[in-house]
Amino acid sequence: MSEPLVIVGNGMAAARLVDELVKTTLGRYAIAVIGDEPRLAYNRVLLSSVLAGETASHDIELRPAAWWRDRGVTLKYGCVATEIDVGRREVKIEGDESVAFSRLVLATGSTPLRLNVPGADLNGVHTFRDTRDVDLLLALAARKRPVVVIGGGLLGLEAAYGLAKAGTPVTLLHLMDRLMERQLDAPAAALLKSLVERKGIEVLLNANTARIHGATRVEGVELADGRRIAADAVIFAAGIRPNVALAKDAGIAVGRGVVVDDHLQTGAPGIFALGECAEHRGICYGLVEPAYEQARVLARHLAGKTAAYQGSVVATNLKVSGVSVFSAGDFIGADGSEAILLSDVRRGTYKKLVIADGRLTGAVLIGDVGDALWYLELIRTRKPVAGIRADMMFGRSLALPSKAA
Ligand SMILES: Cc1cc2nc3c(=O)[nH]c(=O)nc-3n(C[C@H](O)[C@H](O)[C@H](O)COP(=O)(O)OP(=O)(O)OC[C@H]3O[C@@H](n4cnc5c(N)ncnc54)[C@H](O)[C@@H]3O)c2cc1C
Repeated sequence: MSEPLVIVGNGMAAARLVDELVKTTLGRYAIAVIGDEPRLAYNRVLLSSVLAGETASHDIELRPAAWWRDRGVTLKYGCVATEIDVGRREVKIEGDESVAFSRLVLATGSTPLRLNVPGADLNGVHTFRDTRDVDLLLALAARKRPVVVIGGGLLGLEAAYGLAKAGTPVTLLHLMDRLMERQLDAPAAALLKSLVERKGIEVLLNANTARIHGATRVEGVELADGRRIAADAVIFAAGIRPNVALAKDAGIAVGRGVVVDDHLQTGAPGIFALGECAEHRGICYGLVEPAYEQARVLARHLAGKTAAYQGSVVATNLKVSGVSVFSAGDFIGADGSEAILLSDVRRGTYKKLVIADGRLTGAVLIGDVGDALWYLELIRTRKPVAGIRADMMFGRSLALPSKAA
């Protein structure tokens, strides 16, 4: 008889895990997925495109209902898992139902952070995480009233772009002195800022939100330096917090995320975690690629095959506010490294390659990202680059003409 394997969370990591499990474990498990969102798993990354009006919400489903059905997966969506009973090996679902498991996987993702400032709970304060948020933001966009977005990382920029594209006046506030400081060096961030401003978005840096004004609804935002920005709505896009409550309440070790070993196993035998809710070797990843790598390893492990997750080399390769951005590895350049630079502000292009000990160790690209995956491969494989050093800035086809397609 198949062993009951329960996955809590029906997001991107869970969907990929099921995909990998049905390929590797061949009927060993009876899989049930419990997800609190009221729809099938979808590609969360594409919410930015939905907000920007480039993709329809119903087109972002990862797999159609028939796919899950044909693989015998029991889907419980619109259901909140409220408790793990580690001893009885059961997960409780809101409304008193319980689901038994022999193996349990937590794939509960993250929740957007809400700044702890006065006014944070006023009507008109939103976040940007799921389709319900996007529906609200689209309704907001239709009103074309001024909006403040707090957070100049990927999410904030995407929210600002989507709203501005719909004709909403947007002011983007960022606490730091440059946008996307975790992915970009100062010149790249300055170029991104000017490209974003060209889309009609006002960007304020060093902007520390002190309070949100309004009687019952948002009327504006006040910064710590006294500046005031009038707004009808505020969107928090200033970070995420892994969803660890289920694990914590069950006595499973958590740090920032649910602590897992190289098999993605938590401190409780037979209970695993992956994706944004997991913390591996002190790191909680906030991107899809590590979640997918974890899914591959966990599926192999659950199939009884040898597999260990060693951590991920994180790269950012995306369109931010309509601008292509890539960043990987040591993009600032540690002591003893050297950088090759190419900058053409008018064309909206910036390239920086960081080399240390004869190897590519980091890269930042804005605008022309055609060779991003090649650079990433060079960083990941640590291949010596002395032979292509003179041409590598100009891309793979010039540096390796014989290998170009
Ligand atoms: C707008 C947006 C754009 C993004 N763009 C990018 C990008 O360009 N590149 C990139 O790499 N990453 C991007 N990300 C991040 C990426 O979407 C996440 O890293 C990825 O979705 C993580 O997958 P996950 O399965 O761990 O979490 P999620 O996809 O969040 O899934 C977790 C699911 O678990 C559910 N859940 C939580 N608790 C419970 C419970 N108790 N009971 C039942 N269900 C529960 C949640 O509701 C959710 O549906 C973006 C995120 C957003 C919001």
